[in-house]
Amino acid sequence: MKILMTTSEAVPFAKTGGLADAVSALSLALASLGHDVRIVMPRYYGIDREKLEALEGPLGVHVGGGEEWSSVYRSRLPPPHGADEQGPEIPVYFIDHEIFFGRDGVYGTPSEPDFSDNPRRFSFFSRAVFQLCRKIGWYPDILHAHDWPTALVPVMLRFGEKTDGFANTKSVLTIHNLGYQGVYSKESFPYTRLPWDIFKVAGFEDWDRMNLLKAGLVCADRLTTVSPTYAEETKTAAYGFRLDGVLRARSADYAGILNGIDADVWNPRKDPTIPSRYDPDDLSGKAVDKAALQKEFGLPVDPDIPVIGMITRLTDQKGVGELFGASYGSAWSICADMRVQMVILGSGEKWCENELRSLASRLPNLRATIGYNERLSHLIEAGADFFLMPSRYEPCGLNQMYSLAYGTLPIVRCTGGLADTVENFDQETGDGTGFMFDDLTPRAIYDTVGWAVWAYYNKSELIGRMRSRAMRKDFSWVRSARKYADLYESLS
Ligand code: ADP
Repeated sequence: MKILMTTSEAVPFAKTGGLADAVSALSLALASLGHDVRIVMPRYYGIDREKLEALEGPLGVHVGGGEEWSSVYRSRLPPPHGADEQGPEIPVYFIDHEIFFGRDGVYGTPSEPDFSDNPRRFSFFSRAVFQLCRKIGWYPDILHAHDWPTALVPVMLRFGEKTDGFANTKSVLTIHNLGYQGVYSKESFPYTRLPWDIFKVAGFEDWDRMNLLKAGLVCADRLTTVSPTYAEETKTAAYGFRLDGVLRARSADYAGILNGIDADVWNPRKDPTIPSRYDPDDLSGKAVDKAALQKEFGLPVDPDIPVIGMITRLTDQKGVGELFGASYGSAWSICADMRVQMVILGSGEKWCENELRSLASRLPNLRATIGYNERLSHLIEAGADFFLMPSRYEPCGLNQMYSLAYGTLPIVRCTGGLADTVENFDQETGDGTGFMFDDLTPRAIYDTVGWAVWAYYNKSELIGRMRSRAMRKDFSWVRSARKYADLYESLS
């Protein structure tokens, strides 16, 4: 099948979050199954034109009351780490428009987190997707859009673009995080060049504003999200971010497909960034990594004390209030009451960064590094005994899958992708790969960490078996890609 991924970000070209990894990895996995996959994205200022191949002639894009002109560049997705250069070719097209995309931020900057012209930028980009296909004479069977920035693509396909080569094209929209919807003033609507009379039927209407994601959810032929449990949760008021009704109405066309992980990058058997490599049959390397982790964070090097790791954006979604909130968070009691060490890597909300610094200065067994650090994230995954993720909601989550791959047992709230990837410890049978709780309260986090620590000291043999079991789980992208391919085929 011919599949066009329409996206605002894709690694290695532009990344602000997991969406960028998912789009590229899914594209590669689909191509390895034999599909003709291509990607189209904006050319942001940071993407060097010199490294791209220019397509001849300008691209005319009808938006608003007139026409905008852009250039198109082309490159290809690099093969996955460690793979040979002969892998499947995935062309990546870049829509170049100086005014809209000739800036550093993808959606905004620290001082302007959501660019005020985002509805224009992404209306233009979405229209350009269709013009690009016409220009290169390549019409996809599937237009696959991701999150609000390209949610207009399925809307445009349904209202106006389903002509010439697109007559049989179907659309899929994947929700990577329902918390971000692209809600703007209606004044920008004319820029889409969609007629006003479809404003309501197409689903844009949102309390007199314009909701781009909502329109995409109403108009796409199929909807997916990144885990089966999150698909169910988003149909409830508690997790639906006001769009649960829309998703319930589209239930028959809405599925959850778990993301995969890059097993070349996140693999303790061959990870070049960790001091010692290991596999499920011999975890002695993990002990070396644990000592290195303790040393790196300035903690006493002691193989017997359980180390709890955490790598996260410090935002409410990740349960950081319940864990680190001054006076009520559970981290203080965990570290004060239990014989554990806690290492945290993260950045995000200022109050939380400050609170972590304060906790680290008062607790001898808690250490925090504020910032983004890939090397350290690998060391934490390899060296920690447990990995804590008390997320309020988690569409899929990658860190718990990395943790399982490294035999680092996740302690997680039972939600979204966490519920689909971690199996709760059964202390009678020894089954399971992690420790889970339901309610997001400081007490539940405290109790569940306490349970894991108890098992560490009292059921060490079972913990060892859990580690090996966790490391043998398959979270490959090919598994996910097969499910997407089945979904595409069901549409044709
Ligand atoms: P989300 O996309 O909601 O932030 P995920 O668990 O899906 O959560 O993915 C987060 C990714 O970002 C993981 O690869 C994680 O290791 C990485 N990450 C988050 N914060 C940091 C940090 N401070 N340093 C290094 N990597 C980080």
